[in-house]
Amino acid sequence: MVKRHIPELAGVDYFGHTGNRGDAVAWGETLGAAVADMTAYQGHGSVATPHGILITWALMMEGGIQVNALGERFSNEHEGYSEQCVNVLAQPGRVAWNVYDERLHRLGLEFPDYRDAVAAGAIKSAPDIEMLASQFGLPACALSRTLEQTADCASGKATDRFGRDFTTKLPLEPPYYAVKVTGSLFHTQGGLVVDVEARVCDASGQPLPNLFAGGGAARGISGAHVWGYLSGNGLLSAVSLGWISGQASAKLAVDNTHSTT
Ligand SMILES: Cc1cc2nc3c(=O)[nH]c(=O)nc-3n(C[C@H](O)[C@H](O)[C@H](O)COP(=O)(O)OP(=O)(O)OC[C@H]3O[C@@H](n4cnc5c(N)ncnc54)[C@H](O)[C@@H]3O)c2cc1C
Repeated sequence: MVKRHIPELAGVDYFGHTGNRGDAVAWGETLGAAVADMTAYQGHGSVATPHGILITWALMMEGGIQVNALGERFSNEHEGYSEQCVNVLAQPGRVAWNVYDERLHRLGLEFPDYRDAVAAGAIKSAPDIEMLASQFGLPACALSRTLEQTADCASGKATDRFGRDFTTKLPLEPPYYAVKVTGSLFHTQGGLVVDVEARVCDASGQPLPNLFAGGGAARGISGAHVWGYLSGNGLLSAVSLGWISGQASAKLAVDNTHSTT
């Protein structure tokens, strides 16, 4: 289904539960339900590779940068971790490196999965950028130049060519840290079309009898693109459509009971 609906992520690591295979969508379609926004999903551009551990995006939001194998930045990291998965996968080797400093390392340590990444040896540090580059086989000159460019953006001497505002965060300073990451698919946002009562609808918008959907089974609210995903959109449709479908299905059961007695 990923290959059919989200071809840009075909074959990419899936970071959710292996039992999540889109069965509900297939069952609904068999019953004549409409589906929508099947191209939408939550990706993530910061999963340590080959360890498979999520590296918190807080590192980027608080001043860290992502570089590719050429030691160069390739995007505005502040546009969002979901769409950044596509940008990372477009880089040589489909990987990138999160580069940050001691201050951000300490921030990362507040997150359990970051501590797992430290324990797994995914995070490396060095007293200067040349030594950090050599640990990962990155070109030291290019990486130093990238750090100088971001420092210029932070001090207001230059503006970022990708449009990121560096002036609101502290510039990176030694000792430096880095982790090799790749892009990953977390969950899909498309699904069965539902009405305001979470009833599954057919292509003409008519609700099917006795069929409700919520969460991963139902179409989310992220639109049709990866950039439409905001933190919380997954659990939002699970919790609220779950609550709504519980209320609506109970009401339908009561109404059906009354109409048959
Ligand atoms: C790594 C990751 C990070 C995420 N981060 C966020 C986030 O920060 N914010 C956010 O809003 N969303 C996030 N999401 C998405 C969010 O988790 C999902 O959108 C949401 O959990 C979907 O809810 P659901 O009830 O449809 O499915 P699930 O939460 O997957 O629940 C399905 C349940 O059914 C059970 N089950 C499956 N098959 C059977 C069976 N045959 N018999 C009995 N039980 C069965 C499963 O064990 C599971 O407990 C993330 C997803 C992943 C994978």
